[in-house]
Amino acid sequence: MIKLEIKGNKQQTITKVCNECGKHIQNLGVTDIIVNNKNNTITPKDSDGKDITRNELPEELKVSKCKDCE
Ligand SMILES: [Zn+2]
Repeated sequence: MIKLEIKGNKQQTITKVCNECGKHIQNLGVTDIIVNNKNNTITPKDSDGKDITRNELPEELKVSKCKDCE
């Protein structure tokens, strides 16, 4: 699952963590969690400049497990 952390200095970090134990799996960027909703007037782009067309989060971001819990 995705975890958003806001540190004291207002720095935001987005990480993928294990649904079971909460262990850190991977750092994510903003473009990893953007979804294209129909109300958008512009199409969001990912870090490679490609259009983001998904309208919900990828399953692997909703439910993720670390190596220990798999
Ligand atoms: Zn785990």
